[in-house]
Amino acid sequence: AKEEGRNTYAMYTESLQSKLSEQIWIEHQLHKALDLNQLTLHYQPIVEGITSEILGIEALLRWNHPERGLISPTQFIPIAEQSGLIIPIGQWVLREACRQNKKWQDEGFQKVRIAVNLSARQFYSESLTEEIRTILEETELTPQYLELKITEGFMIKDPDYVNTVINGIRAMGVTVSIDDFGTGYSSLSQLRNFSVNVVKIDRSFVQNIGTDRNNISIVRAIIELAHGMNLKVVAEGIETETERKLLQQHNCDEMQGYFFAKPMDSDRFAQLWRQRMIN
Ligand code: C2E
Ligand code: CA
Ligand code: CA
Repeated sequence: AKEEGRNTYAMYTESLQSKLSEQIWIEHQLHKALDLNQLTLHYQPIVEGITSEILGIEALLRWNHPERGLISPTQFIPIAEQSGLIIPIGQWVLREACRQNKKWQDEGFQKVRIAVNLSARQFYSESLTEEIRTILEETELTPQYLELKITEGFMIKDPDYVNTVINGIRAMGVTVSIDDFGTGYSSLSQLRNFSVNVVKIDRSFVQNIGTDRNNISIVRAIIELAHGMNLKVVAEGIETETERKLLQQHNCDEMQGYFFAKPMDSDRFAQLWRQRMIN
C-alpha cells in the first residue's frame, strides 16, 4: 500500500509538473505571439434559420504557432487571462474585428454586426469603455455593428458594477449579449438582472435536442423568457437538420453552427458570403 501511495504521488507530481511546464511554455510563447503576428481571427456566420442568410458574424481567436500549428483558444485564453496578457490580446481582437467588419462594409457586403468575446479581466478593466470608443473611432465602424459577448460568470462578483459597465457600453450604441446562457451558476430567472440585448444559448443545450427532453425544455424556457423581455435569442452549435428544425419550431431568432458553416479565415468567409449574395 505504501508503494502504491508513492506511485500515485509520483504520478500526480509528474502530471502536475507537465501541466505546469505546458502553462509556462504557452505563457512564454504567447508573449511573443502578438509581435510575431501569430494571432489571427476566424469568422463564423450567424444566420437566419430557414434561408441561411448571413445576419451576423462571430470573431474567434486563433493562434497559429510555427511549430505547434493552430492552438485552440480554450487552451490559451485561460492562461492569457491569468497572466494578464489577455488585455493586449483582447484589444488586438477588438480592433481587428472592427477593422475587418468595416472593410467588408466598404467592399459592399450587407452591413451586419460582428460579435467579439470579452474576457472577465478585460470586462473589469477600468479603461474598457474608453478603449472601445477609441477603437470604433480609429476603425470608423458604426457602433451598432459591434456586439460584445459576456458570460454569467462576470455577474457573480458585483452585479451592480457589471450592469453599470453594460449600460456604459450600450450607451455608445454597441450591443451586449450574454453568452453560454444557462451553463453558469445562476438560474434562468436571473436573466432579468442583466441589461443585455441578446441571449446566446449554449451548444450543450442544443446537442441532442431531438432526443433529450430536458434540453428541449430548457431551450424552450430560455427562448420564452428572453422573448418576454424583448431580447433576441441566438442558438450556438447547431450541427444537424433536426436541431435546426426544432429550434426553428421554438422561434429561435438566429442560429450558428457547423450545420451552416464552420469558423474560417477572412478570405474564405468573404468567398462564402459572395456566393450567398448571388444565390
Ligand atoms: P464561444 O464564445 O462559446 O464560441 C463558440 C465556440 O463553439 C467556438 O469555439 C466555435 O468554433 C464553436 N462552434 C461553433 N459552432 C459549432 C458547432 O456546430 N459544433 C461545435 N462542436 N462547435 C461549434 P472556439 O473557436 O474553439 O472558441 C472556444 C471559446 O474560446 C469561445 O467559446 C470563447 O469563449 C473563447 N474565445 C474565442 N475567441 C476569443 C476571444 O477573442 N477572446 C476571448 N476572451 N475568448 C475567446
Ligand atoms: Ca464566449
Ligand atoms: Ca458560447
